[in-house]
Amino acid sequence: MPSPNLSIGERLEYPLPAGADGRVHRITAFRYGSAGKGPKAYLQAGLHADEFPGMFALHLLRPMLETAAREGRINGEILVLPQANPLGLTQHPDGFLYGRKESGSGQNFNRGYADLVNLLPPLSLGPDAAANTALIRLAMRDVLAAHAPSTPLDAMRQRLLLLAHDADLVLDLHADNQALPHIYVGTPLWPDAQDIAAEIGARAVLLAEVSGGNPFDEALSGPWWELARRYPDSPVPNGCLATTIEMGSNDDVDPVLARNQAEALFRILARRGFITGESLPDLPELPCGATQLTAMSQIRSPATGLIVYHAALGDHVIEGQAIATILDPLGDEVTVCAETSGCLFARHSQPYGWPDKFIGKIAGTDEIESRKGLLLTD
Ligand SMILES: [Zn+2]
Repeated sequence: MPSPNLSIGERLEYPLPAGADGRVHRITAFRYGSAGKGPKAYLQAGLHADEFPGMFALHLLRPMLETAAREGRINGEILVLPQANPLGLTQHPDGFLYGRKESGSGQNFNRGYADLVNLLPPLSLGPDAAANTALIRLAMRDVLAAHAPSTPLDAMRQRLLLLAHDADLVLDLHADNQALPHIYVGTPLWPDAQDIAAEIGARAVLLAEVSGGNPFDEALSGPWWELARRYPDSPVPNGCLATTIEMGSNDDVDPVLARNQAEALFRILARRGFITGESLPDLPELPCGATQLTAMSQIRSPATGLIVYHAALGDHVIEGQAIATILDPLGDEVTVCAETSGCLFARHSQPYGWPDKFIGKIAGTDEIESRKGLLLTD
């Protein structure tokens, strides 16, 4: 039986400082289980506020967690933020929601998170991995709490990290413009994250230690393997498995898809011990191998014009194969060929290109010479 003081779907609200327009926005989280007892999982959606499928999936996950909580089957704490970015949700000046970047500053909502490993003071780590984990999390919390945010966006980044920094598992739910499910995860976390990729039916798994720009997931997972390097005489585990899950296409708001994805998230939590007493099916087979992010081709338009795709999402394309034609209605046609072989897992939903616009992604296997520096699309 659940203990009488067990919180069931406790709603937590965190107001952000008012912006220049005087509006106050709030970050809302739902807590299942008990804080500070046992493992912690953190799930958020909508950090890019115009990427919708994760919001729907978390909305459907909440009553499932509610039931498990009532039955006393939550082990530790599960935090759920179905809309992590209240700032982005208000950016619809001309009838269309723009949620990837803050309109005033132009900053990407999923970049620029605190570089925790370089902000931490020298740590007195010992021979016990669990004690080191606890000490590192406390030090992270102190560093985050000491920061005085200068803008609502800065305060939002700080709050989200304060809520997530001590989680064992962080699932940051995004979507790509037009895409099949895929994940980004730190190289040291693979194959540990294989169950996550398999449950969501990932068609690409993209690995990097540093993908550039300090996205949310790497701000949480990266410090652990870097601290392990800096303190080679003390055991430092990967204390936070954080991954960016691209659930599908930005505009996927489909009840069947969302239900399936909510159930997949629930099974991920159950397989990892955050929910007890579940009878679980065998893990589905992962439909792809893992790819270094440096082997992912970002297909760019070479010209201006209509994009006529010749390959569908999910197609295995071959290097040199024609992927699209850029058709200038006033002039010529230019063929765009694949620079690597692999699964075409993302395309652009707006079929109009211009020089250097990203119009697709291929998960290849061989490193691509030009893929250096910032590896993610800004
Ligand atoms: Zn995103």
